[in-house]
Amino acid sequence: MRLILLGAPGSGKGTQSQKLVERYAVPQISTGDLLRDARERGTPLGLKAQAAMDAGKLVEDAIVLGIIRERLAQPDTAQGFILDGFPRNQAQADALGAMLMEIGQPIDAVVLMQVDGDVLFRRLTGRRSCKECGRIFNIYTAPPGTAPHCDRCNDRPVLVQRPDDREEVIDNRLKVYAKQTQPLIEYYEKLGLLRRVDAEGGVDEVFARIERVLSAPNKHSRIS
Ligand code: AMP
Repeated sequence: MRLILLGAPGSGKGTQSQKLVERYAVPQISTGDLLRDARERGTPLGLKAQAAMDAGKLVEDAIVLGIIRERLAQPDTAQGFILDGFPRNQAQADALGAMLMEIGQPIDAVVLMQVDGDVLFRRLTGRRSCKECGRIFNIYTAPPGTAPHCDRCNDRPVLVQRPDDREEVIDNRLKVYAKQTQPLIEYYEKLGLLRRVDAEGGVDEVFARIERVLSAPNKHSRIS
């Protein structure tokens, strides 16, 4: 299964990717996670990406494409992958199409996670993660105590907020999404790959909707 999850920041791409990883046994490739990891390790690439990330802007295509190319070359992607947060503009979508054609691995579907603007804002401002185990919480909708037991943090999560989940940055991220990423909806629709999913509601409820659209046959051609 080779999938792209498309949707605004806060639409639940990361959460649903984790469920898709379990269901299809293919890795999640999140450019956001890969960039955050590079930044935390202080690599030259991570340091280069930092300013754009902190401002809620897109990191240069050359950096992101380099990361993706390297990741797709790893053997665990042979059976497929879930792309989360990539591509985010037309240049990235074009480069991805070319890369996949080279390795003969066309995308099977693009799932568009649709969430109302107010809900996105609440999800992003409320999002926290545990510093120890990485579990994601939401101080409004899924506060500590509602997640399954965790041995690593002993159910005493140390909550931290992503710097780009601060209100002033969120606004910018949503604008960048509208301007640069949203046009990809039409692009993938024309290729017959787009599957729209109502991504509001509980995690399992949304996952069931994703499974439903993925089991429906493709309408047109595949991207290659
Ligand atoms: P995310 O975790 O997907 O919300 O990504 C966090 C930040 O990483 C974004 O706001 C961007 O600054 C950067 N980023 C992630 N993916 C991409 C991408 N495909 N292209 C450019 N920048 C990206």
